[in-house]
Amino acid sequence: MKKLVAIAALASLPLLSGTPDAKRDPTAIGGRKVSSGVNFYSLEKELALGKQLAEEVRKQARLVEDPLVAEYVNRLGQNLARNSDVTFPVTFNLIESEEIGAFTLPGGFIYVNTATLKLSDNESELASVIAHELGHAAARHATRQASTQQVLDIAGIPAMIFGGIGGYALRQLGTPLAFFHFSRDFETEADFLGLQYLWKAGYDPESSVNMFERVEAMERRRPGAVSQLFRTHPMTSDRIAKTQRDIGQILPNRPEYVINTSDYEEIRTRLLDLLEVQKAKDATAPQPPTLRRPNELEFDDRPTPRQ
Ligand SMILES: [Zn+2]
Repeated sequence: MKKLVAIAALASLPLLSGTPDAKRDPTAIGGRKVSSGVNFYSLEKELALGKQLAEEVRKQARLVEDPLVAEYVNRLGQNLARNSDVTFPVTFNLIESEEIGAFTLPGGFIYVNTATLKLSDNESELASVIAHELGHAAARHATRQASTQQVLDIAGIPAMIFGGIGGYALRQLGTPLAFFHFSRDFETEADFLGLQYLWKAGYDPESSVNMFERVEAMERRRPGAVSQLFRTHPMTSDRIAKTQRDIGQILPNRPEYVINTSDYEEIRTRLLDLLEVQKAKDATAPQPPTLRRPNELEFDDRPTPRQ
């Protein structure tokens, strides 16, 4: 009987970390701990791992290096980070990709695909995506999830991120995906935290609902337009309804919100132009031979991937 009671008590423990009440108080952002929970990685280890993975991303992806665009994304991200629970330095980069997506490496290396910026209609909507990723970073979801799933092999992660490169990546959805394929609870928590960061930074929290709806509509219209990783953030009506509820219940009203800036409009136009130029260049450039890095040879014994 006693045992049963103990199990029942365990089952009713909140699944999310930290004190639930503090997490519901956006005015306490900055002084609250949102990353507690089982984690085999010290913060130092997490940062080192993230750095190593970020280096792989830099090698394998095409990052937008235009200084004006990169500076804008970083500025937007850092402003949100200052209004978040993140306790370590975070970085923000745009990845040139036609797939809608965003992801966060351990240690706060945050990436947003250019297609996501393109899909957004204003700065507040773009900020909502970054704020969600900051939620994952602040709560240290990557390493906490890896800790519960005992992920030891991180070698396949960069390959897995860039499904297009080499084409074998989707086959690699083994343990490394644990770093990115967050549990439902972690996704819900990132939504919840991100929404508060968006609000704290002065943006219109309704923008997150608008952005969810945009992604959902795009997914319906063009299946495959949303990256596999991003689809692990299910755009269900439940999720939208919960966000809507949270806006009403936990966010104090502000007399006005930032929805858009002229910087956003300028950068968006500039980026679209740059992408057009790049596309034209790619179309005329001779196709480079497919190079395999030595560390990819291990995948050679696999069946030829579908193109
Ligand atoms: Zn997420």
